[in-house]
Amino acid sequence: MSKQVPRILLTGGAGYIGSHTFVKLRQAGIEPVILDNFANSHPAVIERLARITGAPVCLERGDVLDRAFVEDVLRRHAPAGVIHLAGDKAVGESVAHPLKYFRGNIAGAISLLEAMEAVYLPVGPLGPPTLVFSSTATVYGDAGTGPIAEDFPRRHSNPYGHTKLVIEDMLEAVQAARPEWRIGVLRYFNPVGAHPSALIGEDPTGTPNNLMPYLTQVAIGRRSHLRIFGGDYPTPDGTGVRDYIHIEDLADGHVAALRTLQRTGESFTVNLGTGRGYSVLEVVNAFVDATGCPVPYRIVERRPGDVAQCYADPSRAMQLLGWEAKRTLEQMCADAWRWQSRNPQGYASGMASAASSQATEKENGLLVIG
Ligand code: UDP
Repeated sequence: MSKQVPRILLTGGAGYIGSHTFVKLRQAGIEPVILDNFANSHPAVIERLARITGAPVCLERGDVLDRAFVEDVLRRHAPAGVIHLAGDKAVGESVAHPLKYFRGNIAGAISLLEAMEAVYLPVGPLGPPTLVFSSTATVYGDAGTGPIAEDFPRRHSNPYGHTKLVIEDMLEAVQAARPEWRIGVLRYFNPVGAHPSALIGEDPTGTPNNLMPYLTQVAIGRRSHLRIFGGDYPTPDGTGVRDYIHIEDLADGHVAALRTLQRTGESFTVNLGTGRGYSVLEVVNAFVDATGCPVPYRIVERRPGDVAQCYADPSRAMQLLGWEAKRTLEQMCADAWRWQSRNPQGYASGMASAASSQATEKENGLLVIG
């Protein structure tokens, strides 16, 4: 066995999914290099990752849209693959600012793919271009009742989902043109929860759009009550049903995807979900049971664009990756709450001044490039 630790480039590695994936990669003996511009993440994440994993973090601060920068990063670190998570993900914002999304997400992917082709094709000592891409269950639109399998028709209902769909199509065309590519597309369902250390977690800027961070902010007293969007859906209790997946399971899914691409050389598209749907009210009740915190709520109008239910058929991920989600809704709630209660203001909680945070960086041996 080679003694050299394989490297992976992790774009968006300082974000919610990226930071948890970073920890899992390192635990799997893979050295991730984070590429992030902190547009939607907090620099404090880096120091927390160093604390969790007990080693300095390699960060390339910059934008995935900057093709020359990405190519330079690839040449300097020579990663065995790339996990591409960088991008914007707020549905509402994408409706208000579609060009930001089309440009940021699609041009970002093009920039990365071009840089990868320049570095990895024709195939040389670095091996074939290998990419894990973060897609979303949003590409299924309203799939009706029952579990959703990967061969279900795709449709978009907002610019965010549209960008993911376009990138999926682009990846398919790139693969058809150059079969050397190895591409794993991961369609996420609803990631929630946090690392059990409570050092990293979800820290949305502004008012949270998603259920769990909104719910934990109500529980901590930052918001008066949860608004449940719609109580008249054709579901058992009338509230929307989703497939919530613990962020730790989702992060494990990325490691499994990477390993599978490297082992088989075959591209794939898989759902990352649990296969089990829970209603909003079930989540609220599970949260109250797991944490003992009261969560006042009001049932209000449906949110435009929401579907009644959406949960995965996760069997292909099991078959191809040998991966399945293991953590319960109770763990998701307990871990989300531990993160929120220990970091009431997210990463801004207890932030030191700029000067002392520089000192912390030095103490932790943080390796920052760029
Ligand atoms: N939801 C809610 N109140 C909120 C946020 C979300 O009732 O403040 C509901 C939403 O209508 C959906 C579920 O919670 O049924 C999950 O929504 P989220 O935005 O977290 O994820 P989505 O499935 O829409 O991507």
